[in-house]
Amino acid sequence: MKLKEVTALKKLLSVPQKIVIIPHKNPDGDAIGAALALNEYLNLSGHQSVVISPNDYPEFLKWMPGTQGVLNFEKQHSDALSAIEEATVIFTVDFNHLSRIGHMETPVKNASATFVMVDHHQSPDSYASIMYSDVHMSSTCEMVYRLIEAMGDTEAITPSIADCLYSGIVTDTGSFKYTATTAETHEVAAQLIRKGAQNTEIHNRIFDTNTPSRLHLLGCALKNMVILPEYSTAYITLSQQELDDNNFKKGDTEGFVNYGLTLAGIRFAVIFIENKEDGIVKISFRSEGPFSVNEFARKYFNGGGHTNAAGGRSDLSLQETVHYFLAQLEKYKTALTA
Ligand code: 5GP
Ligand code: MN
Repeated sequence: MKLKEVTALKKLLSVPQKIVIIPHKNPDGDAIGAALALNEYLNLSGHQSVVISPNDYPEFLKWMPGTQGVLNFEKQHSDALSAIEEATVIFTVDFNHLSRIGHMETPVKNASATFVMVDHHQSPDSYASIMYSDVHMSSTCEMVYRLIEAMGDTEAITPSIADCLYSGIVTDTGSFKYTATTAETHEVAAQLIRKGAQNTEIHNRIFDTNTPSRLHLLGCALKNMVILPEYSTAYITLSQQELDDNNFKKGDTEGFVNYGLTLAGIRFAVIFIENKEDGIVKISFRSEGPFSVNEFARKYFNGGGHTNAAGGRSDLSLQETVHYFLAQLEKYKTALTA
């Protein structure tokens, strides 16, 4: 964290504030972990802080300390709206554009609070007066650790804060294997274990939560996989019918997209998931090497993310979305196979 931001944040937090912390829609372990850790830290520091999630999140994250205090904007609408209106400070974590919080966008844009961004995605927007944005960080949770450290408060890290931060780091690094994992990431993880993070339990709770339905859905996804060796690409489709047939629950498709990349010679993997309720197809993109899925998602699918992991959406039907994708893919044949 740069000195300018540290000084500004110290000044802002030198008096008790009414704080709202917001993760992105469909929050993952990094977004929820960062929000809950920051929330506990700020409450312990004499502020009045609450986490508001734009919508619900998967069961496998609900063991996290502090989860019961999270307001769900869809379900606790009026409480959430009052908190946003009354907030003097709003932290946004693990995203950098207010379009990422769905229906919360308008009330949040109208809020009179001072905004603080903590995020590691590319191309940040400029809504925050204090911006801690670093695309080289493995995770927002690693950044929250650095933020607490910059405040001179590592002593304040409780075992539950450590659990939340460790969870976000393992989520976003794929258990310390993705390219954004650095020596510093391991150093932060080591500090968190010293502070009481239950590392083995956390891995079990996040990654070993299969249900028979989820494994059947995975079977269906893998059967549907289309491999295009001439484009070094593999893609998966899941229709709403297939999700329904396999008793789909939020979070069940987490990680499916990565299977494509485990094939030798495949550098670009995609999953298209139909969501009839929202009238969209949600898409996840992953790559290995220099091909930027962030740029691809941004250019063609109203999305974004990181160089090797990004997401987006389409308002077309599932079939039309795949056709449109294949038409764009054609342009990248050389880039993908060079
Ligand atoms: P996932 O595919 O796991 O949902 O997301 C991969 C990465 O892309 C995450 O860092 C996530 O925050 C980002 N991401 C996912 N969907 C979107 C989207 O619709 N827009 C933007 N800007 N980023 C996204
Ligand atoms: Mn993240």
